[in-house]
Amino acid sequence: MKRIVFLGPPGAGKGTQAAGVARELGIPHLSTGDILRAAVASGSPLGQEADGYMRAGKLVPDELIFKIVGERLARPDTRSGFLFDGFPRNLAQAETLERLTPIDRVISFEVEPEELVRRLSERRTCPKCQATYHLTFQPPKAAGKCDRDGTALLQRPDDRPEAVAERLRVYAKQTAPLLDFYRQRKLLAPVNGSGTPEAVAKRIRDALR
Ligand code: ADP
Ligand code: ADP
Repeated sequence: MKRIVFLGPPGAGKGTQAAGVARELGIPHLSTGDILRAAVASGSPLGQEADGYMRAGKLVPDELIFKIVGERLARPDTRSGFLFDGFPRNLAQAETLERLTPIDRVISFEVEPEELVRRLSERRTCPKCQATYHLTFQPPKAAGKCDRDGTALLQRPDDRPEAVAERLRVYAKQTAPLLDFYRQRKLLAPVNGSGTPEAVAKRIRDALR
């Protein structure tokens, strides 16, 4: 069970959980959001094109995503498996992934909308290592600094309220239909994403057995 997709609305806890699961299973954590943010930070042509869509809370065009994912899956470390976090996000992406590789399981995170907003409004991210914190639920040890590398934590531009509202709309319209897509293929494992990170981690481990 090592070819895994994490599906769920923004703020559901996918990134928080993905790091631990990938480490335990010895597979790479492939976050299209992290790859895109690194491209934006580097100022590459990909980053320049993606930046406006991301700030507005819209999906980045599929062609850019297919290029990123195709290149990433071609690297040898994905032979032992992979954990996609934030991909696929619409039907065209799910169909493309199906042509690229079989997958073993799709973990879908279930979290109430009010809780998503609570989580996103106080999320802080390390721009260097992408670690995520929450001012109330998962604060860093030293205020405003990453536990791992001491870098000053930032609020992502798309975690501001206007962009959050748009991302939740985009999720409902474009990404939520993938629940049926994967249910039909008998790959879907819904996991309750509320409660402590440890409780959620245990549910995910059980769902991957
Ligand atoms: P996603 O990758 O699905 O968008 P994140 O993993 O970045 O979500 O989590 C969103 C926010 O919620 C972060 O601030 C994170 O620290 C916090 N968070 C994650 N899991 C939990 C949890 N189980 N309980 C409370 N807050 C959480
Ligand atoms: P979250 O889990 O909080 O929604 P991500 O880091 O997964 O955040 O994504 C941040 C942004 O990056 C998205 O709002 C979108 O603009 C872009 N993005 C990430 N993955 C994809 C994808 N598979 N397809 C299109 N856009 C994407």
